[in-house]
Order: sequence, then C-alpha cells, then structure tokens
Amino acid sequence: MKPFNSLLQFQAHFNTEEKCREFLEHQRWNGTLACCFCGSLHVTRLKNGRRFQCNEKECRKQFSVTVGTIAENTKIPLTKWFLAMYILSNHSKGISSLQLASWLGVTQKTAWFLNHRIREMLTEKEPKVLRGLVEVDETYVGGKISNKHVSKRKHFGRNDNKTMVFGAVEREGQVITQIVPDTTKESLINAVNENIEKGSVMVSDENPSYKGLSKEYQHAKVNHSSGQYVIGAAHTNTIEGFWSLLKRQINGIHHYVSPKHLQRYCHEASFRYNQKKITQDERFANAVSNCEGHLTYKTLTKQI
Ligand SMILES: [Zn+2]
Repeated sequence: MKPFNSLLQFQAHFNTEEKCREFLEHQRWNGTLACCFCGSLHVTRLKNGRRFQCNEKECRKQFSVTVGTIAENTKIPLTKWFLAMYILSNHSKGISSLQLASWLGVTQKTAWFLNHRIREMLTEKEPKVLRGLVEVDETYVGGKISNKHVSKRKHFGRNDNKTMVFGAVEREGQVITQIVPDTTKESLINAVNENIEKGSVMVSDENPSYKGLSKEYQHAKVNHSSGQYVIGAAHTNTIEGFWSLLKRQINGIHHYVSPKHLQRYCHEASFRYNQKKITQDERFANAVSNCEGHLTYKTLTKQI
C-alpha cells in the first residue's frame, strides 16, 4: 500500500468495493488463501472474483472474504467501512456515532453499530503481559453525579455510579486496561497478577489495595497526598497521561458510555496508544488485519 498523506488521498485510493476487498484479502490472508470453515489451503476463486470455493471433500463450502470477520453480512459498503476504520484507528479521540453518520450518509443507529464493530477490530486478540518498569493505576469512568437530581445526589459517593478501570503501562511501552468488577483489594490484585509479569518493577500511588504485592513485584509507591508526584523513576505520570487521553475520548466525544460497552472504548484508546510510533496507514492496516471476529447488534443491545 502506498502511503497516504491525507484522508482525501485515502478515500481516492479506496474508492471501489473491489479495491477494498482486495486489500481485505491481502491483510487477512497475506497471499495465502485459507478456507474460513476448515482452514484448508485448497481453495479456488470463483469466476465472479468475489467468492471462493473450498476444494476439501468434507467441506466444499463457498465463502467471501468477509465471512468470519466483524463485517460478515454487512449491508454497508466496504468503502464506508474503510473510511470509518481509518478514522477510528487514527483520530486521537475516535468519532461519535452522530458525526460518523453524517460523514458516511447512514443513520445514527447504523453508525453506532459500525463504531462498536470497529472497536472490536481494534481489540488485541492475544492477551498481553507487561514487564520491566510498569506503572499501575485505576480510574473511574461513567455517569456524572451532577446529572442526578439533587435529592438523589446525596446517596451517591464520589464514584458510586462510575465504573472502575484498572490500567498498567510499561514505561516507553504498551498499555493494558481492564474493567474491575468491584473496588475490592482482591479484584485489583487479580488484575495486577493477570497483566504483569512477576518480578517486574511496579509503581503505584498510595492505594492500600496494592499492599501485599511486594513479595512478587518490586513495588515502588508515590505518595500523592503528601505532594510527592515523582521520586526518580518512581512516578505514575505515564498511566495518568493515558487516562487523560481516554477521558478526552469518552467525555469529549461520547459524553456517556454505558458500563457494558466501556471495555470496548478502552480497547479503542489502547490500540491507538500502543501503535503511536507507527504511521497512520500502518495503524489502519493493522486494524484491517485484525478483522476476524463476531459482534451482532443483538449481542450489543442485550440487557445485562
Ligand atoms: Zn473448507
């Protein structure tokens, strides 16, 4: 793919379904076509160019490049998918469904569904374990107390209707986020154990929940309440920088995010953060490569 210097150049290049399909095939299969159902490499392209036939006796199924991807059965043209993917994989705050709807000429409901499916593509499939010098922190995201009627406000503590997100970031490296089901010490310790390699240097603030991890991690604490923000390498400025990116995305663009969708918004922010050192085109190409998956409208709108 030749590099694009602007959104206009990007659009001018991916201006037909055929060009988008070709690129999707390339990113998904990297030149080696494989059956979406049985994985066989004995596959032929049918005459129309868009569909494939598996030649494996037990399978013999036909498929197109979108089968088994987030875009399976979509009625939205791939040109619109690509434009939305380019924006979401690159724009530091993402895009609201209202704005996306007006740019693509689709309904807001369609844009909302599209946005969520693209966030699913921006979700890294392999769980990541951080190592080295790792900053950990937690933040609260969600509904605002001030929006509640004053009679109800007094029943809520500062964070009672917000969702806690645990975050960890390698200094000069990768970030991970994880929604924490509750604010117990156990949940935070589990999040640390699941995401950070034992023996790593862990920097946190004075949150007492992290006490007790000193046996498995070299644990440095920064005491914010006493005005200490940086002690040599012991600071949590990197993860706090990530939280401000996440909050600009959520508060600035979406205003309200329901707890059941929050992890997907966090994955969107992590994707851009973790790929910040590569070009816009490469970020977009990586999102396309990660197209396999499944997310239906029914799943998204199910009451939990
Ligand atoms: Zn097959």
